[in-house]
Amino acid sequence: MTLPSNTEAGRALPTGLDELAAAVRHDFERMRFPTPNWVPAADGPDGKPALDVLIIGGGMCGQTLALALARDGVRNTRIIDRAPRRREGPWGTYARMEILRSPKHLTGPDLGFPALTFRAWYEAQHGAEGWERLYKISTADWLAYLLWVRDTAEIAVENGTEALDIDPATHFVRVELKGAQGTETVYARKVVLAGGRDGAGAPYAPPFSSLAAALEAGKMRVFHSSDDIDFARFKGGKVAVLGASASAFDNAAVALEAGAQEVRLFSRRPHLPQINKSKWTVFAGFLEGYCQLDDRRRWEIYTYIFSQATPPPHESVLRCDRHAGFTIHFAEPWLDVVSAADSVTVVTAKAQYRFDAAILATGFSVDLPQRPELARIHDKVLLWADRVGPQEAARHPEAARFPYLGPSFEFLERAPGAAPGLAHVHCFNAGATMSHAALAGDIPGLAFGETACRARSPAACSSPARTSCKPHSPPTTTASSSRPAISCRGEAFPLLVLHGDRGRVRGGRLLRRLLLLPILKKNGEREQENYPSLNATSRPRRMLGNRTTRRKSRLRARKPAQIGRSRNTHQLPREMMSERRKFSSSIGPRMKPRIRGAGSQRILVRK
Ligand SMILES: Cc1cc2nc3c(=O)[nH]c(=O)nc-3n(C[C@H](O)[C@H](O)[C@H](O)COP(=O)(O)OP(=O)(O)OC[C@H]3O[C@@H](n4cnc5c(N)ncnc54)[C@H](O)[C@@H]3O)c2cc1C
Repeated sequence: MTLPSNTEAGRALPTGLDELAAAVRHDFERMRFPTPNWVPAADGPDGKPALDVLIIGGGMCGQTLALALARDGVRNTRIIDRAPRRREGPWGTYARMEILRSPKHLTGPDLGFPALTFRAWYEAQHGAEGWERLYKISTADWLAYLLWVRDTAEIAVENGTEALDIDPATHFVRVELKGAQGTETVYARKVVLAGGRDGAGAPYAPPFSSLAAALEAGKMRVFHSSDDIDFARFKGGKVAVLGASASAFDNAAVALEAGAQEVRLFSRRPHLPQINKSKWTVFAGFLEGYCQLDDRRRWEIYTYIFSQATPPPHESVLRCDRHAGFTIHFAEPWLDVVSAADSVTVVTAKAQYRFDAAILATGFSVDLPQRPELARIHDKVLLWADRVGPQEAARHPEAARFPYLGPSFEFLERAPGAAPGLAHVHCFNAGATMSHAALAGDIPGLAFGETACRARSPAACSSPARTSCKPHSPPTTTASSSRPAISCRGEAFPLLVLHGDRGRVRGGRLLRRLLLLPILKKNGEREQENYPSLNATSRPRRMLGNRTTRRKSRLRARKPAQIGRSRNTHQLPREMMSERRKFSSSIGPRMKPRIRGAGSQRILVRK
């Protein structure tokens, strides 16, 4: 349907951001926001008023959580970020893609206020037609939008303030902060770690023997993709990129656009991944229900997903492929990277190459000891390794390093009684993925994540006066079973009820559980054609107990357009290989010419 300019179903849309901000304020009034503070005040051990919640990290997740707490009347909070304004998180720094990887319609930072959605923000400036024309959200727009939400909702992020040391005790967490005014000590009933992709770890680099020397200060030729890189320095030069992820292509593209004469991207895989397995993890039933699954299923699902690479977006691949100087080396992992004053040497099993710069687009690890602010507590935190036993942990060391979190995203003690204050530290970042799925990072999970973290972790929970409200008790690992099946939701309901989560929200959550979990858990047969877009991810579905059957003749008869698309996972190896080489529908529009596709090695590999 074509809409007249700047109208939506006959109603005038706000014209300009001032008008939209007025509409937001009107919505806030209707929803009685900001809600008055209801949490009883408490003094910290220093005799000064303690914070109810300190949020460390003012990026997308931190600011959304702050808004959610304010909406529910938890107002004695602070939110800090060590980065200056506009440089929080990746959007204004190292997210080097032109457009978001997510589709444009996603919501999350708006908390369900329609006037706070990205769409409202965009339409106020470009009209309804502009929204219709928009393909995907530009990274710059997303950053501007997040800042607009922050300002409009009056979320006061304290930029330039870093958390240096976190020391939880029974009732309060002591945190050392360093800001423009120097250092200060604050006490908070709850601390939320909202530090993003590396919030429970660090940028990951493979253990090359010469890497430490290559990264030495002054050389400035070997980088991680999350570093601040001055690409102009390598104009006319040669750049190597390790990895085949979205970030690898984005960094390669920026280097080429900055004038690099040659960019070579090295992938250890023989082809680009074609199927995004994570697609099965971003709908309401999964995001809400994942936490209820037992340890075995959660472990199986995410170790499997981690083992499967995510395809780079086709826009990023084509952005590189436009340049004659771009080459991919498939099945050629690096063995070492050696930096000298005037060049970098990349060593592979096939050759040694000289470059002017090398970029490791190798992602992030979850590894608590790498966070300096967690130095006091990381060895007391229960990890998935402690739950699954040494054999499984050795098979999947990456997943085993994730903290095993309670229902409120809180750390649990490795040895019961050794550090009871840990329950007041909540891990609302990428480290939560094994326990809670992607609720604390990616946009699709954000609306669920803030509800779960906030609703189950009110400040009053740690009040000495409220002894009936205990933090989540640690799970007991039995010697007989290395994979104890516990449901982390067991104590979530009392917390939800005790702490005044809105009936409306709770009702919605319950409804979703009732309606959608049977889909996840049902062991009966379900016809594949009902879920055409999920064909590619049938293995996670099988892990969830949902057996699928394929009725190809009926599928063909009814939906001829699906023929060819549903061949991804159930074919002979040879057919699968040929399928992968095509520019599959899983990463790009079907009308794209296959000979120029992401997996068309002959096109991309230039000798
Ligand atoms: C390159 C890239 C592209 C992405 N693209 C998409 C996408 O298209 N779609 C999608 O859904 N998701 C995407 N994501 C994932 C996710 O949406 C982003 O990582 C998002 O920024 C997560 O928000 P966050 O608030 O958790 O973390 P961040 O935005 O990273 O914010 C964390 C903040 O914590 C601060 N901080 C950390 N430690 C401290 C400390 N000790 N003291 C004070 N401050 C601290 C940091 O300065 C930072 O500003 C992308 C991620 C990356 C890395």
